[in-house]
Amino acid sequence: LKSPYHGGHLEVIVGPMFSGKSEELIRRVTRAVIARQRVSVFKPALDDRYHDTAVASHAGRTVNAVAVRDAADIRAHLSGEGTLLHAQGDTLPDVVGIDEVQFLDAAIIPLALELADAGVRVILAGLDQDFRAEPFGFMPELLARAESVEKLTAICTVCGAPATRSQRLIGGHPARFDDPVVLVGAEESYEARCRVHHELRG
Ligand code: ADP
Repeated sequence: LKSPYHGGHLEVIVGPMFSGKSEELIRRVTRAVIARQRVSVFKPALDDRYHDTAVASHAGRTVNAVAVRDAADIRAHLSGEGTLLHAQGDTLPDVVGIDEVQFLDAAIIPLALELADAGVRVILAGLDQDFRAEPFGFMPELLARAESVEKLTAICTVCGAPATRSQRLIGGHPARFDDPVVLVGAEESYEARCRVHHELRG
């Protein structure tokens, strides 16, 4: 049996940084490979070309992945330019996994739905909140449309409680709400934090 669902479906894995989203994606994908299913894994590229790479967890486990710029790249990779996914039939993989999905574009939503409608098990992992603890871009719509949502927690670096937020630090200090997402030349880092210990500089 391919899955508890009849045909394709959408599974979303969310949580803050260090919550084990990549680990959970790798675990699900590895099990599908063991079950001899055809699996394709994608992740956002830092440069603007396709290339082979890997999804790696902070603890070091990896699976092979293709680096892509956007949803259109994934579509092209799966179907070839201009071909409708639902006409692909048997040539589609059984499972499509995407890590760091929040860094792709909103066209990932219709693509994920189309793949699920075409019978594919789609597993998406990404941040549900940005460093301000605001909903991250198009992620809320993915959560709403998914058959299954797993919300993971990390461990708060201050108190050890379950952490649901990603603390952004710039030069060792909490970032401001309106700090630009990309800061040139600044030394920045991220930590997992709980609601109590997540801070924004006023
Ligand atoms: P994500 O994809 O959500 O960023 P990863 O799967 O890459 O998470 O990494 C999760 C791993 O990170 C944990 O299993 C643990 O080994 C490590 N880790 C480091 N810092 C923390 C933290 N503050 N809370 C939980 N895990 C952490």
